[in-house]
Amino acid sequence: MKILVLNSGSSSIKFRLFLAPAGDESGSGDWQVAASGAVTRIGEDAAQVKLSWTDAGGESRSRKDEAHIDSHHAGMERIVDLLRETGGLGGHEELAAVGHRVVHGGEAFHAPTVVDDDVIAAIRRVIPLAPLHNPANLDGILVARELFPSVPQVAVFDTAFHQTMPRPAYRYAIPGYLYREHHVRRYGFHGTSHHYVAKEAARMLGKPLSQCNLITLHLGNGASATAIRGGASVDTSMGMTPLEGLVMGSRCGDIDPAVHFYLCRHLGFDNDTLDDLLNRQSGLLGLCGVNDMREVHRLAEGGDEDAELALGVTCHRLKKYIGAYLALLGRVDALVFTGGIGENDAEMRGCACAELEALGIALDAAANRAVATHARAVSAADSRVKVLVVPTDEELEIARQALEALS
Ligand code: ADP
Repeated sequence: MKILVLNSGSSSIKFRLFLAPAGDESGSGDWQVAASGAVTRIGEDAAQVKLSWTDAGGESRSRKDEAHIDSHHAGMERIVDLLRETGGLGGHEELAAVGHRVVHGGEAFHAPTVVDDDVIAAIRRVIPLAPLHNPANLDGILVARELFPSVPQVAVFDTAFHQTMPRPAYRYAIPGYLYREHHVRRYGFHGTSHHYVAKEAARMLGKPLSQCNLITLHLGNGASATAIRGGASVDTSMGMTPLEGLVMGSRCGDIDPAVHFYLCRHLGFDNDTLDDLLNRQSGLLGLCGVNDMREVHRLAEGGDEDAELALGVTCHRLKKYIGAYLALLGRVDALVFTGGIGENDAEMRGCACAELEALGIALDAAANRAVATHARAVSAADSRVKVLVVPTDEELEIARQALEALS
């Protein structure tokens, strides 16, 4: 049984084809990746098509092409052709489901959902909350529905895991009609990743997820922290949009909203310049001129003061959220680092956890420094709160949730 996972963006379609564990309806066994790849630069002169797959003899293969692909429909057709040619996918009947990443589900979706016309209409209704992402996600769903009419399509929402947040966590302190009539509230994102690493952490702690209190830190180009009580999200750092919270590659995270009025009144900024400034010119990029954390470290090691400051601001913000969520949760079983930075950046983990012994958090310096790609504990043996590094796998989580939604 195969599950195709699609992440359809404005000019790209990323995909992964999974082989579900045989005879395991819960999807908790070993999943295999049959093929993965992406079509990028859709609509440009030369779109890029990449595919990696395992051939019949068990060898890893890959290929890269350029082609003129002017729509998501053409991109998906190319993906299906390639999967056929390379033997990844025979007929449609091999597919149990297509799982789609959908960024915003508003308040309508708390769980993965099998797509029908009502679901499509509901995803359309929340487009104003995610004008850049939801239309592209929806395009992917519509094209897949056309190409695989007999295969169930399942939408998996980045916001769904956070729908368990209580009202005091998700309401902003602004007049209530803005929530009731205009849906202004905290939704949170990266939910699929927070949920996946939370399940992995529970497994490592040897407890059911429903008994775990966790602080999960997804630190990639986008970054968010989530407080999890009894397996459910009770607060998260991203807000109505993915701009709020931690310092990110090019997003500012938390900022006094009055900065906006100041910039408008004194520098003549308008909505578009502000949007560009805070979403694309800020964060690490704004502080030190580069948005890639490895590059920030390289500059800081060479004595670049702006890069040192960028590391300092990022760590300071991270520590504030860890402290806030420790206070919110009271008892915490584990702090879980994930994402490109969370998984690989020992210095950032070290800085975020420094001098937290009084709060029950102590790293094992050697374990933290050791380079590894598997899930592991990096806390000292006597640390009351375990510190775990868990590589995230959002595509796998979407595949598992798609299978769950069917059963
Ligand atoms: P995305 O949010 O785009 O999925 P990733 O989760 O891949 O991003 O994270 C990308 C970030 O991870 C980049 O800032 C990159 O520099 C950082 N990163 C990757 N490897 C390392 C490393 N070894 N040390 C520090 N940062 C790293």
